[in-house]
Amino acid sequence: MKKILTSIIFILSVTIVSAQKTYILCGKLLDAKSGSLEERKTILVEGNKIIKIYDGYIQPKDRTSKVINLQDKVVMPGLIDMHVHIENEFTASTRLNKFILNEADIAVNATVFVKRTLQAGFTTVRDLGGTGVNISIRNAINAGVIEGPRVFTSEKSLATTGGHADPTNGNSRNLIGDPGPKEGVVNSVEDAKKAVRQRYKNGADVIKITATGGVLSVAKSGDNPQFTIEEIKAICDTAKDYGMHVAAHAHGDVGMQRAIIGGVKTIEHGTYMSDTTMELMKKHNAFLVPTITAGKEVEEKAKIKGFYPEIVVPKALAVGPQIQGTFAKAYKKGVGIAFGTDAGVFSHGANGKEFGYMVEAGMPAIEAIQSATITNAKILKMETEIGQIKTGFFADIIAVNDDPTRNIKTMENVVFVMKDGKVYKK
Ligand SMILES: [Zn+2]
Repeated sequence: MKKILTSIIFILSVTIVSAQKTYILCGKLLDAKSGSLEERKTILVEGNKIIKIYDGYIQPKDRTSKVINLQDKVVMPGLIDMHVHIENEFTASTRLNKFILNEADIAVNATVFVKRTLQAGFTTVRDLGGTGVNISIRNAINAGVIEGPRVFTSEKSLATTGGHADPTNGNSRNLIGDPGPKEGVVNSVEDAKKAVRQRYKNGADVIKITATGGVLSVAKSGDNPQFTIEEIKAICDTAKDYGMHVAAHAHGDVGMQRAIIGGVKTIEHGTYMSDTTMELMKKHNAFLVPTITAGKEVEEKAKIKGFYPEIVVPKALAVGPQIQGTFAKAYKKGVGIAFGTDAGVFSHGANGKEFGYMVEAGMPAIEAIQSATITNAKILKMETEIGQIKTGFFADIIAVNDDPTRNIKTMENVVFVMKDGKVYKK
């Protein structure tokens, strides 16, 4: 009797805990690692994981399992964007936002941006700087309260006084204050350590610094170095203590070199990168995050009178057109490329445009997709969990209509999105 009871309890508990099974029938399945397109495959998803990949189309034997028919689609792993700003989307009135928006306003707007990002096939993003609301957005997504990609956030960017991410740049003198490491502004090695520890305390996953001037800040230079090498080293060493890597915004060559030698993992934009710096990138195993889409956007918007403040216009017109050319050169030279767009500078959800720009600049389509999957998963130390459709990995799966190696524009029209085993677009 006891034996029977135990087995009934066992059967009951198995029935209760066994998660929903989904069979995804894939007309074509992209193996991101090898770059090959395989035909007629079935992915079995259970809970939030990929359990098995079968040859041919497999139908479930039970009635509770679901079937998703993607027999006329190209299926691939969910995409990863290494450079987005989930809190905002740039418009002509953005400068006003810091004076008129409350945290709740920022949060409400961000819910729209992250949803759009996920709908575009980006199942993971690295958020490189906002006000701190980004932490709450990440947490709300993880808790299942709102829909969005997995977020790795830097919380606030670190800058030096007057530097690209100094939050009071361009304010009137009575509103300028004197922000310090708590607000992400550092001016010494000690400040640098404290600013990193403060980000850790606030819940950041990565650290972002602005190693040089930037295009959209209300300041004259878009490319001057803005940290000393000692400060950058202190930031990178401290970040390492907390298991975080460092991303450096950089347009100018001198600031870029300091950042690479100081130990950053990725260079964002890399606009005026010299041949010497490209060699340095390779030597230090640093990656370029191209953000070509943002370059194109600021160049276009700078031509609209009044869209940007006057001080920004010449920077946007100089930096914008340069980014794609530098990417082409760096790729040719063998610098590691990590897909990233700077979405927020342009509309969230248009991230897929970057693929077309990368291919236009000479990178084969499959390598562009690998940079948005394999490479980025590795940088996030998630290479055994995301970036591939493989047994044991999280079920982050998307589909497009066409073969991207023949029509890269198809990446701008993702028609199916599953994240963590849950379908968000069908
Ligand atoms: Zn950015």
